[in-house]
Amino acid sequence: MLFKNTRSIVLHPSSIESIDLRIQNGKIQERGKNLIPKKGEEVHDLSGRVVMPGLINGHTHLYSVLARGMSGPKEPPQNFLEILQKIWWKLDRVLDEDSIYYSALVGAIDAVRCGTTTLIDHHASPKSIVGSLDVIKETMWEVGLRGVLCYEVTDRGGKKERDKGLEENERFIKDNKKNSQFRGMVGAHAAFTLSNDSLRLCGELAKKHDVGVHIHVAEDKSDVTDAEENYRCSVIDRLKDNGILREDSILAHGVHLSDMELSEVRKIGNWIMHNPRSNMNNKVGYAPVHLFGEHAGLGTDGFPADMFEEAKMGFYKMQDSRRTPHDGTPKLLQNNQELLSQIFGHKFGTLEKGSVADLIILDYQPPTPMTVQNLVGHFLFGMNSSMVESVMIDGKWVVKNRVLVGFDVESVYEKSKKVAKRLWERMYGMNS
Ligand SMILES: [Zn+2]
Repeated sequence: MLFKNTRSIVLHPSSIESIDLRIQNGKIQERGKNLIPKKGEEVHDLSGRVVMPGLINGHTHLYSVLARGMSGPKEPPQNFLEILQKIWWKLDRVLDEDSIYYSALVGAIDAVRCGTTTLIDHHASPKSIVGSLDVIKETMWEVGLRGVLCYEVTDRGGKKERDKGLEENERFIKDNKKNSQFRGMVGAHAAFTLSNDSLRLCGELAKKHDVGVHIHVAEDKSDVTDAEENYRCSVIDRLKDNGILREDSILAHGVHLSDMELSEVRKIGNWIMHNPRSNMNNKVGYAPVHLFGEHAGLGTDGFPADMFEEAKMGFYKMQDSRRTPHDGTPKLLQNNQELLSQIFGHKFGTLEKGSVADLIILDYQPPTPMTVQNLVGHFLFGMNSSMVESVMIDGKWVVKNRVLVGFDVESVYEKSKKVAKRLWERMYGMNS
């Protein structure tokens, strides 16, 4: 396939090039000016449309997708722990195969339509653990999305559920070791719902298969005080002592980590995912993103996978906080690409020869000069996900001219509405 006349951009370090791109075997095979079409090649003249690497959601929960519009509990949650107890730990307990499937399908459709080509997901469905990651994988595969999946191990449902969670992670990691579209990690909920024994089992499993652990860390102050009061150490010490802080590990949030803990995390090279919309919505505080270092990324924590919007919100929050500025959320998006390259062992996030062809095409007409110096300004204040016209993943069209390839979205939504209604009824016993 040949793309003629692209305006190819990369956010960080910023670059803009007017070039042609040749895609073959899921990779960028050739780039340059005036490439000559080969016999039988599919040629698309993009007439200066923006082409950029597909965006990556560094931390999310597809299982929460069908909660959109659901009524809140009768007694509104008063703090973060109550948000978990009264909403998410009730919702995940009533998920069955049907609702896992439709949550993942609607979330995957949302993601690709916004130009997000990879989801790093953290799944929980305590009453339907075995095979749950395969349901998500198959759904994402049908849509064409790339995924890094894990099951959330926790002690909150007892030892049997914990062990099933560990087994689900191991099975999925083993099955997808060489998969070019999916990989597994070890999922763990958070230190405050895991004993030292359980944390150690997660760490050992990750070591055995040479993968990282994906875990929530210091999202709320309660995770920090739990470690201090019950274990007489910091939350980072607990994770470190139990083998959780591996190089590939993903720590979601890090809102309440101290300077010292963050310097420890930076030294090890863990990835820390910033989720600004979720943190604001849950009123847990503002993360010290400026201290996260080179391995800081961006996630949505269950919010729709619109990385344009997440990046904008994160940027405004940073400005509003008047804290020492960091490199900005576009840099975090680029860091997500580094993480993906590390996980898959292929080059993501560049438009160089040999890079994976996860690409998005935007219908963005700059009304002011767009240069390497102000590209980030155009990204934050001009571009948005509604401009995503086409999406390619692994060299294959997933969205073409705003149409999701192979899906009748309307009929998916008709079905997902019914599944969501039943899910809500199971959760709250509601009839409407
Ligand atoms: Zn999360």
